[in-house]
Amino acid sequence: MKEEILYIVIPCYNEEEVLPETSTKVLEKLNKLIDNKKISSKSRILFVNDGSKDKTWEMIEELHKGDKHYLGLCLSRNFGHQKALLAGLMEAKKHADMVISMDADLQDDIDAIDEFVKEYYNGNDIVYGVRSSRKKDTFFKRNTALLFYKLMKKMGVDIVYNHADYRLMSKRSLDELEKFKEVNLFLRGLIPLIGFKSTKVFYERKNRFAGESKYPLKKMLAFAFDGITSFSIKPIKLIMSLGLTISIISILIMLYALIVKLIGYTVEGWTFIIISIWLLGGLQMFSIGIIGEYIGKIYQETKERPKYIIEKVLGDK
Ligand code: UDP
Ligand code: MG
Repeated sequence: MKEEILYIVIPCYNEEEVLPETSTKVLEKLNKLIDNKKISSKSRILFVNDGSKDKTWEMIEELHKGDKHYLGLCLSRNFGHQKALLAGLMEAKKHADMVISMDADLQDDIDAIDEFVKEYYNGNDIVYGVRSSRKKDTFFKRNTALLFYKLMKKMGVDIVYNHADYRLMSKRSLDELEKFKEVNLFLRGLIPLIGFKSTKVFYERKNRFAGESKYPLKKMLAFAFDGITSFSIKPIKLIMSLGLTISIISILIMLYALIVKLIGYTVEGWTFIIISIWLLGGLQMFSIGIIGEYIGKIYQETKERPKYIIEKVLGDK
């Protein structure tokens, strides 16, 4: 069996506290895989410094000096996890046959890497790391995360349940990922759109062993909102249905207002005002919904996502 080249991409934002341990553990894993002839000796660990304000980049430079397996990529400023990750993936695929992305804090079990590689050789282009339980997460994080997955599903975004950005991707699936031109990145939503053969590997998620989460509530909410609005025009469609509903209700209100007037149970002018409010409200919302439909179409067109991805071609030799 040909030993293929594995790159492990690790985005880092202010991770000086975890880097020494993370780099050691991941290198141990990499060397073990190389020694066992599972992967090529050209395999590497690529750290992406996402505009850290601490000593992260200096540490990456030191690591690189000390061992050829460590590589680094430094972004000009903080672009956020998703973009830092994409930068790393795109750099790695220039040299690698398969690329694994993981967080710097070792919350994702690195022993799952063996399974990832095995599944790659089994012919999978994408291997999703899935948390088998969230026991170690706080009650709050666990439940907000659950809510997030449910909401995304409702909004028609197809994401792998309990999978974050711990995954293996083959070079060709990364080549396809490159064709997605959108700027608002939500990788978890995009990668299932690539297709190809994929599978899941389950693991226990641990606690961050040092440092704080770089995803405070505010960033988490922004991320969830981004995920929905980058993939779904359901919120726009909601306006349309709401407008339609109110228009229908307005007819009932109209009848009611007229009946009250006929019975003579009302003050002068009330009937006209009530009917106008409901009728106009409904009409306005309905009109906004129609405009929204067009905006939704423009929005989807501007993404210039690839219309199809070819897996195999059978042609003449
Ligand atoms: N990260 C990054 N840029 C950012 C925020 C986070 O590159 O702006 C990295 C961070 O260094 C870590 C990964 O993204 O390797 C996930 O962050 P974290 O572990 O803080 O998120 P959580 O696990 O709490 O969701
Ligand atoms: Mg983490």
